[in-house]
Amino acid sequence: MALVMLENVSRQYRLGGQTVHALRDVSLRIDEGVFLAIAGPSGSGKSTLLNLIGCIDTADSGRIVIDGRDVSGRTPDQLADYRARTVGFIFQTFNLFPVLTAWENVEYPLLQFPELGKKERRERVARFLDLVGLSKFAGHRPNQLSGGQRQRVAIARALAVKPRIVLADEPTANLDHQTGGEILRLMKAINQKYRTTFVFSTHDESVMAAADRLVRIEDGRIIGLGVRQQSRWVM
Ligand code: ADP
Ligand code: ADP
Repeated sequence: MALVMLENVSRQYRLGGQTVHALRDVSLRIDEGVFLAIAGPSGSGKSTLLNLIGCIDTADSGRIVIDGRDVSGRTPDQLADYRARTVGFIFQTFNLFPVLTAWENVEYPLLQFPELGKKERRERVARFLDLVGLSKFAGHRPNQLSGGQRQRVAIARALAVKPRIVLADEPTANLDHQTGGEILRLMKAINQKYRTTFVFSTHDESVMAAADRLVRIEDGRIIGLGVRQQSRWVM
C-alpha cells in the first residue's frame, strides 16, 4: 500500500535574488514497510524531499498525500499536529537535548500526548531504550555517550511516538564506517521485525547498499528508481 504519494511536487527557494530549484516536478510513491534510500550528491534535494514528506516544509506546487491525508495547503498548526503523530525524524547531527538524559530525550516527544499517561509513557521509554541496546545508559547525557550511542537514542526517540514513517537525513554521515554500519543494521532489523517504514538519505554508495528500495536524485529531479533483488539493483 502507498504510504506516501508525491505528485508533480516542486519546491524552490529564493536566495539573494536567485531562484534555487531544490525539487523539480517530483512524483514518487513510497510503500508501507520499505527500507528506502534517497541517494544523490550534496545539494541534489534530498533534505528538501525528506522535509516535505515530514511536513517540516511545504511544496510550492503539486500534491503530497501521507497515510491517506492530503497535506497540501494545511496550516502550520495542522501540520505540526499531524507531524507529531505520523513522523519520526533522525538527523545527521543527532539533535539531542544536551541537558537531558537519554531517558529524558526519548521521553520528551511523548510529553505532548497527555492521553498516554505516565505508566504507558515510562514503559515506552524503557522498551525503546532496550530496543536500541541502551537500557544501561538511560541516565547518561549525550556528552557521556559515543556518536553511535547518541544516534541510538535518536532512533529510540523517533520510534517512541510509534510513527507511520521514520525519516532519517544522512543518519550515518557523522559516524565512522563501522558505527554507521551498526546503525544501518539496527534500523534494518527494526524495519524487518516491526515493518516500520524507513526513508533515509545518503550520498554514500556503501550506505545506499543497505536499502531495499532506491531513489536516485540529482539536481532536484528523480533520475532513477531501484528495487533490490538479492544482491543487485533492478532499475
Ligand atoms: P541535499 O540534502 O541533497 O544536500 P538540499 O535539499 O539540502 O540538498 O538542497 C537542495 C538545493 O536547495 C541546494 O541548492 C540548496 O542550496 C538549496 N536550499 C535548500 N534549503 C534552502 C533554503 N532554506 N534556502 C535557500 N536554498 C536552499
Ligand atoms: P515522577 O514520578 O517524579 O514524575 P518518573 O518516575 O516518571 O518521575 O521519573 C523521573 C525521572 O527519572 C524521569 O524523567 C527520568 O529521567 C528518570 N527515569 C524514570 N524511570 C527511569 C528508568 N527506568 N531509567 C532511567 N531513568 C528513569
